[in-house]
Amino acid sequence: MQYHNVSEALSALQAIEAKRSALSHAMAIIYFDSATVAPKNTTEGRAHTLGILSGYMYELVANPENTSLLSYLKEHEAELSLEEKRRSELFRKECEQLSRIPQAEFTEFQILLSKAGDVWEKAKIENDFPAFAPYLEKIVDFNRKFAAYYNPDIPAYDALLNEFEEGITMETLDVFFDKLRSAIVPLLAKIQTAKPIDDSFLSKSYPIETQRKYSEYLMEVLQIDRGYCGIAETEHPFTENFNNKDVRITTHYYENDIASSMFSVIHEGGHAIYELGCKDDYNHTMLAGGVSMGIHESQSRFFENLIGRSKAFIEYIYPTLRNFFPEQLDGVTADDFYRAVNKSTPSLIRTEADELTYCLHIMVRYELEKRLIGGTLTVAELPAEWNRLYKEYLGVDVPNDTMGCLQDTHWSGGSFGYFPSYALGSAYGAQMLHAMKNDLGNIEEKIASGDFSEIKAWLGERIHQHACLYAPGELLEKTCGKFDAQYYIDYLTDKFTKLYSL
Ligand code: ZN
Repeated sequence: MQYHNVSEALSALQAIEAKRSALSHAMAIIYFDSATVAPKNTTEGRAHTLGILSGYMYELVANPENTSLLSYLKEHEAELSLEEKRRSELFRKECEQLSRIPQAEFTEFQILLSKAGDVWEKAKIENDFPAFAPYLEKIVDFNRKFAAYYNPDIPAYDALLNEFEEGITMETLDVFFDKLRSAIVPLLAKIQTAKPIDDSFLSKSYPIETQRKYSEYLMEVLQIDRGYCGIAETEHPFTENFNNKDVRITTHYYENDIASSMFSVIHEGGHAIYELGCKDDYNHTMLAGGVSMGIHESQSRFFENLIGRSKAFIEYIYPTLRNFFPEQLDGVTADDFYRAVNKSTPSLIRTEADELTYCLHIMVRYELEKRLIGGTLTVAELPAEWNRLYKEYLGVDVPNDTMGCLQDTHWSGGSFGYFPSYALGSAYGAQMLHAMKNDLGNIEEKIASGDFSEIKAWLGERIHQHACLYAPGELLEKTCGKFDAQYYIDYLTDKFTKLYSL
């Protein structure tokens, strides 16, 4: 195809982006339906539809004709705006990567994933790792193959990490995690000898119907417009974004754990705030949505921990929380509640982990992924190795695979290289908080009065609105300087030293 001018080429790009966005939307809805309300025996038809839709996606993105369009745009790069240049760059990357994956393999992988999700769910309920193992083996093999297609010149796991966080390598992460571990482990050891925090009231009976109403209240506090953001219930909470006017979050209610859903809603709410804050003009283009998993987690964990688990926030919401649950919280003060939701104890489940030990859970997964993809660990060896690392890093004994290597949904969803984003996001968030305090002054006061407008505006202006316009490292640097784990270490040390009077 010949292009006569830049605007013609840009129209062609826009037409492809619009179709790509529509196909993603359809596939995401099908996925969301399967995770929320679809009856359990409906996998087969869904796999069939997803196979066909992902085939269309492949044909659209890996279309050889895209090459002439992208070459034309490259030649006329000087005439493109910052946005137009980034759109073509992002599309080029996607085309090149996908074109290297043979279509049959791509479709086969999508079909495998749609089945693996159900198998994993059942295996988790029944503590049956051997049932899931053959699927996981295939998923690992696919990931290794795809990594070589993405970039054959770097180690496979680095290529996968790059899919979630542009520019991140094992070399950077090894240093980051070592630094973090050498700060967290001694802090945790001191906490073990300090006076324990009583959190027994968190596991009283909190009726789920009331918890649902409490979630609505939390969404209101976070000023998330429910006209654009739904809440559903799933085994494992997540956020799905279709565009900046339609975001869905999910949560999981446990009758005997008020903190679980509360912090899931705030966490997923943070993801939703990011998506809802992306610029309207970027919808249905390559620039739509959050830029990386690390930046996404920086937003969710910002709201979950830096705000949600702060003393100021708990003091603000506590009177309302007590109105919802007067009997359960009888005699419990806001300070008791603050201390309870920040209690640090080495545990088994990542999603229920406290703020301090959370990254140790990530380090276990990072270590295992690195070795599975690197070929030095087999799927059959995974459960035993998981248990060994939990003992080594967290000092806990894993009683079964349900509470061990079957607990997370990521691997069954085909994602390897995702987990480190959680730890990176936590560290990015602490660095952003530092910069925000420099700009806005005493933000605790604002939080304590329930006024999140300046905080949200600060994040909106610096992070959210840009969506995918800047690469994650560039965005962070523009917002608060070069990535430095020290901000996170300082934040954790300060918070937990005060909390436990160490
Ligand atoms: Zn998240």
